[in-house]
Amino acid sequence: MSKHHTTAKEETHIVHGVSSCHTTSMDLVPPIHMTSTFKFTDQPHAQAVFEGSQPGYLYSRISNPTVDQLQTKMALLEGTQDAIATASGMSAVASVVMSLARPGDNIVSCNTVYGGTFALYHDHLAQFNIETRFVYPRDYNNADAISPLINKKTRLLYLETPANPTLDIVDIALWAALADTHGIPLVVDNTFASPWLQKPVALGAEIVIHSATKYLGGHGDIIGGIIAGDNSMITTIKESYVNHFGPCMSPFNAWLVLRGLKTLVVRMERHCRSAMTIAQWLETHPKISRVYYPGLSSHANHAIAAKQMKDFSGIMAFDIKGGIEDGKKVLNAVKLCTLAVSLGDCETLIQHPASMTHATYAPEELKKAGISPGLIRLSVGLEHPDDIIADLDQALAMIS
Ligand SMILES: *Cc1c(COP(=O)(O)O)cnc(C)c1O
Repeated sequence: MSKHHTTAKEETHIVHGVSSCHTTSMDLVPPIHMTSTFKFTDQPHAQAVFEGSQPGYLYSRISNPTVDQLQTKMALLEGTQDAIATASGMSAVASVVMSLARPGDNIVSCNTVYGGTFALYHDHLAQFNIETRFVYPRDYNNADAISPLINKKTRLLYLETPANPTLDIVDIALWAALADTHGIPLVVDNTFASPWLQKPVALGAEIVIHSATKYLGGHGDIIGGIIAGDNSMITTIKESYVNHFGPCMSPFNAWLVLRGLKTLVVRMERHCRSAMTIAQWLETHPKISRVYYPGLSSHANHAIAAKQMKDFSGIMAFDIKGGIEDGKKVLNAVKLCTLAVSLGDCETLIQHPASMTHATYAPEELKKAGISPGLIRLSVGLEHPDDIIADLDQALAMIS
């Protein structure tokens, strides 16, 4: 962080962030350190850097100045001591679980999570003899129902809020208190909110995960992930997993995320404002049976969302009265909205979780997670909301 801005507000930090290290140039924007390795002046210098008695860079899988800048900025935004940038959001999720859980251990997770996270927890952790104990939506905010799942072998609690794709809201402080009672970390996937709207660590979480692919990058042009936490936790995750399993972020991607972050606040403000307008419009539409958006007072956990989020972000889901067949017609009829997975981009993206992002859930699992077969998810972009509404309106008009 530049010394001139230490008392500045968060919006200012997001723009100015951290000063560039290892450069003496006068660039406004720090250069991209596209290098795999770093030179040493002589053998004693190399030895000192490898031993850690002198600061410096060795090799870009372990550390890189551009990636470092992003890590420092993300730690600043999440209010943690440190952060790691990873190759993808999924590698951030996997790195945390694989570095904290051993064969015979278990983790306790909400059941409504990103489709890839669900596949990892439900299908793949078993091959390492790590069990996932799922909490179902009706119990997300019921400590008495979650508590019995936690035992001496539980290594972490995991949640996503707002949850993908149903926009369920999970009470972070309630889960943090449970984690604290058992002396284990609470891990929160903060992708849907971004650090501008929600600060899990301030609510008691120990580790925050992001898919940087979404709002942090914000332009749909990279895949990346973030893990934020205190120094000892980040060191553990780096040394026991990331450094040697190797899911490092490319300096070029780190540079693009740093560029994206500069506009995070203005983008989030627009995403939130447009999403509220569109959610309210959808709620009154005669062909829509239900809208899932935490900003609506009709949302079951609107009060918890209002307590832990600054605003309600840009993602919503809805059910069409005609069910899945009519839903497919709408997906085929939209013109401005783009049929694609992912979220948090400048463009409005629309998708069908049961056949796309959450195809990893078997039909009975979709039901348990509260994902209706016809549910449609919308990530509201930066277009004018009137145009997005006009597009949805003409698509809904295609249904007889
Ligand atoms: C996209 C996403 C992920 C996975 O991130 P990738 O960058 O695609 O690997 C994890 N969690 C949530 C909530 C996501 O939306």
